[in-house]
Amino acid sequence: MKAIVDRQTCTGCELCVGTCAEVFKMEGDVAIAYTDPVPKEVETSCQQAADDCPVNAIIIE
Ligand code: SF4
Repeated sequence: MKAIVDRQTCTGCELCVGTCAEVFKMEGDVAIAYTDPVPKEVETSCQQAADDCPVNAIIIE
């Protein structure tokens, strides 16, 4: 699994960082996914973060 944050769409609400800090962190005003690939043990919380993103800025591949 790979997670990508669309920087143009992200509003910087930090929700994904709260849900899955193992994958997402803030970089300036937007979140980034800093682990590639997503570690197996956090795939569920990573998917949850993507599902919960209010502007659908997280792309899962
Ligand atoms: S939840 Fe979505 S909008 Fe909020 S910081 Fe994460 S990627 Fe950006």
